Amino acid sequence: MENHSNFIKTIIETDLATKKHDEIVTRFPPEPNGHLHIGHARAIVTDFESAIAYGGYTNLRFDDTNPVKEDDSYVQAIIKDIRWLGYEPKNILFASDYFDEMYERAVLLIKKGLAYVDHQTPEEIQKTRGDVNTPGIESPYRNRSVEENLKLFNDMKEGKFKEGECVLRAKIDMASPNMNMRDPVIYRIVYAHHHNTKDKWCIYPMYDYAHPLEDAIEGITHSLCSLEFEDHRPLYDWFVKETEMPKVPRQIEFGRLNIENAVLSKRFLRAIVEDGKVIGWDDPRMPTIAGMRRRGYTPDAIKNFILSTGLSKVNSTVSTDMLEAAVRDDLQDKAYRAMGVINPLKVTITNYPENEVEYLDVEYHPDHEKMGRRNIPFSRHIYIEQDDFVLEKPNKKYKRLALNVEVRLFHAYFIKAYDVKYNEQGEIIEVLATYDKETKSGSGFNERKPNGTIHFVEATHAVPATFNFFEPLINNDTSLPLLDRFNDDSWHVKKGFVEEALKDTKPQDRYQFVRNGYFNVDDDSTQENLIFNEVVPLKSSYK
Ligand code: ATP
Ligand code: MG
Repeated sequence: MENHSNFIKTIIETDLATKKHDEIVTRFPPEPNGHLHIGHARAIVTDFESAIAYGGYTNLRFDDTNPVKEDDSYVQAIIKDIRWLGYEPKNILFASDYFDEMYERAVLLIKKGLAYVDHQTPEEIQKTRGDVNTPGIESPYRNRSVEENLKLFNDMKEGKFKEGECVLRAKIDMASPNMNMRDPVIYRIVYAHHHNTKDKWCIYPMYDYAHPLEDAIEGITHSLCSLEFEDHRPLYDWFVKETEMPKVPRQIEFGRLNIENAVLSKRFLRAIVEDGKVIGWDDPRMPTIAGMRRRGYTPDAIKNFILSTGLSKVNSTVSTDMLEAAVRDDLQDKAYRAMGVINPLKVTITNYPENEVEYLDVEYHPDHEKMGRRNIPFSRHIYIEQDDFVLEKPNKKYKRLALNVEVRLFHAYFIKAYDVKYNEQGEIIEVLATYDKETKSGSGFNERKPNGTIHFVEATHAVPATFNFFEPLINNDTSLPLLDRFNDDSWHVKKGFVEEALKDTKPQDRYQFVRNGYFNVDDDSTQENLIFNEVVPLKSSYK
């Protein structure tokens, strides 16, 4: 991977040069309430690459402080996605592993007179926070004694209160210009089963309190996060300092990544999965890592794309074209070249003997001999694309087959069409042609310029295949609510043929079907029912 410099690396280099740290430790802290998407990939690449570049390491830490929305299936899916991207966390940890220590440190805050149990309702707390221009109003419970607070906090833990009856708040400054410093809530009561700690706790720490402590406990040196946490940084630093954590992590924010015409909201993605609008989190149209994997994007393409977007201190929106270009660049050398016909039209080569088949030996990639070779059958019966034939050549630019026009078939012979057959609806169902056996594998190409080169599949050995084509999941009508923008017409299916050599192909094999685009074998593909997903068209101007 190229070594891109960025403002985070500059900070890390200074910290190493001044011996502030000997080793760089970062973490990726997802909440296990959904699958990872391309936006998370920016955070993952940034966290891992920032450590790898300096011989450090990265922890994967699940931010599982909200038992209601979280689920173990998400934990497993997230681990799988990170490994697929090519990163191995040094440790796989859970915020919930630290609940005991977090509790003890909250007790310490109470003892220092820096936290209190507040009996106001959530609505009252919200209302008395004030706004940017108005200071907040101090809670009537704010000046309780340390003893009373210790007892009440213990009672909270013991389950003596109902949900919402009270919370533990930090005692900071109700007039702070930074709203996050206006006595933020540190613990709330939730009676829910936690996937890790089961029923041990009925109080759960809030993210702003939990996160800095988790970082400090793990000895994270640089806690990299997206921009929306910038205003939370003073609180982050306050908690680390006042809970007297021995190790002091530093939070650094970077801009979020958005993709044009893609929705990277876990809420939206979960909603369309739960509504059955998509086939799952790994639907090839989804901007999730699992969806992109199933579609046929490669880990390198995703990483190169993320790195090429640069890392900045502002949020950015990048076009889908840029992502697709990275995929194309990567598949250019990795995908096997093969032939597939998506909209088949029968061609009969009437001067080729019936019942005879010959095999043409062809490489899988013109630039990479080590990708191997395969045999392509050729006979009297072939399929070409419907689009590659018209009755009469319309103009000079038309470089395909027409009546009395000669074209070259990739890797095979020149053929010339001379007649067609129609069905009852008047549609062309078959083209009759002749071939010139002196033109095998393109010989004679120079003397006799054919009217272009088209691809084909030999019909008697062709393997039937399903081709899936995808459009963006949402339309551009930004006046509508997100869920109403769902594009029901975003998955198109075609039934065609691929060459015989592909009959044993397996999920995740990738091909460039010449002149058609890049395709990936779908996870549900079997020998009886081959399924190819279009990864990207050959050029962005294709559609
Ligand atoms: P939620 O609203 O559920 O918190 P989230 O997208 O923030 O959604 P997390 O699981 O909290 O999800 O994300 C893990 C990490 O990924 C966070 O540190 C977050 O900053 C980062 N992240 C999420 N989305 C993006 C994005 N679009 N660009 C860059 N980083 C992101
Ligand atoms: Mg988040």
